[in-house]
Amino acid sequence: MTAPLPLPRLRLIRPTTVEAAVAARVECPQHEVLAGGTDLLVNLRRGLLAPPALIDITGIAELDEVRTTADRTRIGALVRLDRLAEDPAIASRHAALREAAVAVAAPGHRRLATVGGNLCLQTRCIYVNQSAWWRAAHGACLKSGGEVCHVAPEGARCHAAFSGDVAPALIALDAEIEIAGPAGRRRVACADLYHEEGRAHLRLDSGEIVTAIEVPTSIAHSGYLKERIRRSFDFPLAGVAIACRTEGAELSALRIAVTGTNSRPLLIEGTDALLGRRIDESVLAAAEKLVARQVRPMRTTLFPANHRRSVAAALARRLLGALGAPDAAAGRGHAGGTA
Ligand SMILES: Cc1cc2nc3c(=O)[nH]c(=O)nc-3n(C[C@H](O)[C@H](O)[C@H](O)COP(=O)(O)OP(=O)(O)OC[C@H]3O[C@@H](n4cnc5c(N)ncnc54)[C@H](O)[C@@H]3O)c2cc1C
Ligand code: SF4
Repeated sequence: MTAPLPLPRLRLIRPTTVEAAVAARVECPQHEVLAGGTDLLVNLRRGLLAPPALIDITGIAELDEVRTTADRTRIGALVRLDRLAEDPAIASRHAALREAAVAVAAPGHRRLATVGGNLCLQTRCIYVNQSAWWRAAHGACLKSGGEVCHVAPEGARCHAAFSGDVAPALIALDAEIEIAGPAGRRRVACADLYHEEGRAHLRLDSGEIVTAIEVPTSIAHSGYLKERIRRSFDFPLAGVAIACRTEGAELSALRIAVTGTNSRPLLIEGTDALLGRRIDESVLAAAEKLVARQVRPMRTTLFPANHRRSVAAALARRLLGALGAPDAAAGRGHAGGTA
């Protein structure tokens, strides 16, 4: 058995306001933001990051609030995933968000893990999420300071996969992300927080941090399903969130988002073509096909890329079928979580 890897010595900066946190990031863009630490500390121990200091944002009270109005829910970036999983208002308004929060890691992680940290999670690949000696033995890749990608040696980009569970739920629910930076605050659609590049998948400018999420209440039915190797806790091989609305029996809104397959969580295009139709076999087959055609898994996990593509497509079919079932429309049917 290998000994646990020690944390390097690190300076901690502890701002109590968003402005002070932004100022610390502007002063040194290499400083890393520390929220729950459940992802960051693992990466520090493995030597994947070597920041001069950590900006511990957990003392910023305004980031730890959940506020509900009739038409939206505002969730601070520091809100813990166990709180999202247990809050009855989240469950009744945004089922996909609750199901995604419950699907993250294990209960001990969820007590510390924050929604902001989940959105800003580093991308993952079997060639980098290893100890420093493993990486040294294999040779560095683009993401770890080398000159070649071991997954796609002919290419110039990193294909490490975004594997957060919460982002697809927020994308399907059409949520906006509030970002604070030196120029003040701005909002982007959740899907627009990301790039398709495993080395720099977040579209955050220098000095910016995520401060809150705003989720509209307009979409009635939603859910999240993931497949993973260990059912007790594991990152998704693929995860799918769907939010939809029906009028009569016909679809009047449909959003599908996928995680675990690309370097960003992906909003599936072309779902508007299914509006006005009943959720029947032909619609389920069409949704499955849309997902299978648009996801781009690469060999970044132990499972073959084609398997992850098939899993994502099958999850989309299964989840849409469950959301379209008569008891789901009455708010009772779909249980969510792991497929
Ligand atoms: C064994 C294990 C299993 C796991 N399984 C899963 C899983 O199944 N699904 C899953 O989604 N995750 C999983 N994780 C990863 C992690 O626990 C979660 O993603 C968690 O939600 C991360 O949140 P955090 O607050 O701990 O983030 P941190 O570790 O504090 O931060 C994560 C990253 O986000 C950045 N960051 C944090 N907050 C902000 C902010 N407000 N603005 C800008 N940047 C920010 C940090 O600098 C860091 O790069 C697992 C981790 C472990 C160790
Ligand atoms: S996809 Fe390529 S560059 Fe990116 S982490 Fe994996 S091996 Fe490295």
